[in-house]
Amino acid sequence: MQFHHHGYVSGDPRVQPAAGTGIDRPRDLPDEVDVLIVGSGPAGMLLAAQLSQYPTVTTRIIERREGRLVLGQADGIQPRSVETFQAFGFAERIVAEAYNIAYMNFWGPDPEHPGNIIRTSRTDDYALKISEFPHLIVNQARVLDYFAEAAANGPARIAPDYGVEFTGLEVDADGVDVHVRHIAGARQGAVRTVRAKYVVGCDGARSGVRDAIGRTHVGDVSAHAWGVMDVVVNTDFPDWRTKCAINSTAGNILHIPREGGYLSRIYVDLGEVAPDDDHRVRQTPIDEIIRRAGEILHPYTLDVKEVAWHSVYEVGHRVTDGFDDVTPEGEGSPRVFLTGDACHTHSAKAGQGMNVSMQDGFNLGWKLGSVLTGRAPETLLATYAAERRPVAQELIDFDREWSSLMARKPGEISDPQELATYYLATAEFPSGFMTQYGPSQIVGGVRHQALADGFPVGKRFKSSPVVRVSDGNAVHLGHHAKADGRWRVYAFADAAGVELAAWAQLIAPTLQRFTPSDGDADAVFDVKAVYQQRFEDVDISGVPDLFLPRTGPLGLIDWEKVFAAAPSTWTATDIFEERGISRDGVVVVVRPDQYVAAVLPLAATAELATFFEGALLPAV
Ligand code: FAD
Repeated sequence: MQFHHHGYVSGDPRVQPAAGTGIDRPRDLPDEVDVLIVGSGPAGMLLAAQLSQYPTVTTRIIERREGRLVLGQADGIQPRSVETFQAFGFAERIVAEAYNIAYMNFWGPDPEHPGNIIRTSRTDDYALKISEFPHLIVNQARVLDYFAEAAANGPARIAPDYGVEFTGLEVDADGVDVHVRHIAGARQGAVRTVRAKYVVGCDGARSGVRDAIGRTHVGDVSAHAWGVMDVVVNTDFPDWRTKCAINSTAGNILHIPREGGYLSRIYVDLGEVAPDDDHRVRQTPIDEIIRRAGEILHPYTLDVKEVAWHSVYEVGHRVTDGFDDVTPEGEGSPRVFLTGDACHTHSAKAGQGMNVSMQDGFNLGWKLGSVLTGRAPETLLATYAAERRPVAQELIDFDREWSSLMARKPGEISDPQELATYYLATAEFPSGFMTQYGPSQIVGGVRHQALADGFPVGKRFKSSPVVRVSDGNAVHLGHHAKADGRWRVYAFADAAGVELAAWAQLIAPTLQRFTPSDGDADAVFDVKAVYQQRFEDVDISGVPDLFLPRTGPLGLIDWEKVFAAAPSTWTATDIFEERGISRDGVVVVVRPDQYVAAVLPLAATAELATFFEGALLPAV
C-alpha cells in the first residue's frame, strides 16, 4: 500500500482524504446529482465504491431498506470476485473471516445398498490453479459492509441514503427526473423528484427501474423447486465441513459449509412442480425441508439445532431484453442502465448471481466516472450493454445446464463421475475468468496477441509474481492495480532495455495529452516497467523517468513501478515464461476494470496512440 505522497499520514491509510463532493457532503439527498444508483445490493455497492474514487462526480445511492442488510442470500464468492475485492482493498480481511472451498466432494447411491449414500469422488479446487485467489463462502451482508467501507473511505465519501424508495422516472435529452419517496427517517412520507444525469438500476430481480424504462425479463421459470436453509446441526456425515453434491434415491442436496466453522447452507431438491401448482410449493414448511434432507443423507443422521434462515424457490432463467434505455432503433447515448439481478436471474446453485452482479458494477463504474470527468467520450457508455449482455446470456446457459445436472435422479446418471468431471472441466467459467470482451473502442485487435499469449485481449489481466526492483520484494504484478479508475500500461522490456527506453520516450507525449496538467503525472495512466533480469541486475538509476514519476504536491518519486522478472530468492517463476511474453518486449494495456485492452510491440507507439484516441478524450 502506498501513502504519505501528499505528506505524512498518521491515521489509517485506507481512509483517503476527502475531496470535491466528499468535503462537507450533505446528509440529505440533494435535488440534483450526477449519478443516482437505485439499490444497495452487491451491484449497487460496488458501483458506489468505484464512484467514490471520482470526487468531482456527485453520486448518491438510494435504498428502500432502513439500514444495512442483516441476512444475505448469496454466500458463494468466486475467485474473480476475491480478485476484485483485492482491487478495492479488502480481500485479505474477507478471506480471513470466510470459509475457503478447497475441495468439492460428490456422493451417490451405494451400488450394493442403493438406499445408502457413499462418496464417489473428491475434486481438488486448488489443483486447477485457475487463480491465486480462493473460492470463498461468506455472507452477502459482509460483502456489502466491506464495499460500504470502501465507498465511505474514498475521496467522494459515499454512503447509502437508506429508507428512500424509487417510484418512477422520465428520461429527456439532458438527463433523468427520478421520483422517490422517503419511507423512513426525518422526511418520512415526503415525495420528491431528483434530477440525475445518469441512473443505474441495481434494484434486484423485481426492478422498478427496469419497468420504468420499458425493459422486460425474457425467459422461463422451470418446473423444479428447491428448499434452501442455513442451519447449525450435529451429524455423523463425515463431509459436513466440505462442499458436497449429494445424489441419492431420495433426492439431491447441494451442501455448502459456511463461515465460522458451524453453519451450513443446504439446498434440498423438492422435485418437479405440478403445472397447476400455482407457486404453492413456496409454502413448503421448514420441517418438510429438514425431513427430506435427512432422507437424502441416509444412513447418516441430521440433528438440526437452529435454522438461521430458509426459503423455497423455483428455478428461473431470465435475461432482460436490454441493459440500458437505448432501444435498437434508438439513437444517442444511454441515460439509464440496469445491472445485476435487474437484468439476469437464474438458479442459486452455481453461486453466480452476486458475483456476476458485482462485475456488472465494475464494468460500468469507471465508464460513468470517465465520462463525467471528461476523460472519455460519451460513446463509452454504450459499451456497458454491449459487453455485459452476452456475459449474462452465457451465464444463463451455463446455469441451466449445471442446475439440471444437479437435479437428476440416480437412474438418469450412467457415470457416477460425470458431475465431478463436468465441475472440473468447466471450473474456469463459474470462477469468473472466462469473460472475454469483443473488439470495441476499449478493446483492441488480436494482431499482436502472439507477443503475450498469456494475456488474451478482452480477458481479465492474469497476474503473476515479479520482484520489485527498489526493495527486492516479491509481489504480484496485478495486485498493484487498485480500483481507482486508472488505466494500467505494463511495458515488458526487451533483453537490453534499449527498446523499452525508446518506447518510454516516444509514448510520453501521448500519455501527457490525456493527463490533466494540474494533476499527478500518473493520474490517468499507471505505467509500469518489467525488466527481464534479476532485480539485483537492474540499475534503477538508468530506468526512464516515465517509470519513476514525481507525484503529489511534494513531487515525490514513486519507486514502486519498476519490476524484475527473473527468478530470485523469493520467486520461482518468471512472468515472461508464465505468460508467454516475447523476449523482444511488449506493451500490455489494461482497463480500469482489469481487462486486457491491447497487446502491442514496443515499436507500435503510433498504434497505441490511436487506441487511446478512440478510448479517451484529450485533457483540457
Ligand atoms: P439485490 O441484492 O437484490 O439488491 C437490490 C437492492 O435494491 C436491495 O437492497 C433492495 O432493497 C433494493 N431495492 C429494490 N427496489 C428498490 C426501490 N424501488 N427503491 C430503492 N431500493 C430498492 N449469488 C452468488 O453469487 N452466490 C451465491 O452463493 C448465491 N446464493 C444465493 C442463494 C439464494 C437462496 C438466492 C435467492 C440468491 C443467491 N444468489 C447467489 C444470488 C444473489 O443473491 C443475487 O444475484 C444478488 O444479490 C444480486 O445483486 P443485486 O445487487 O443485483 O440485487
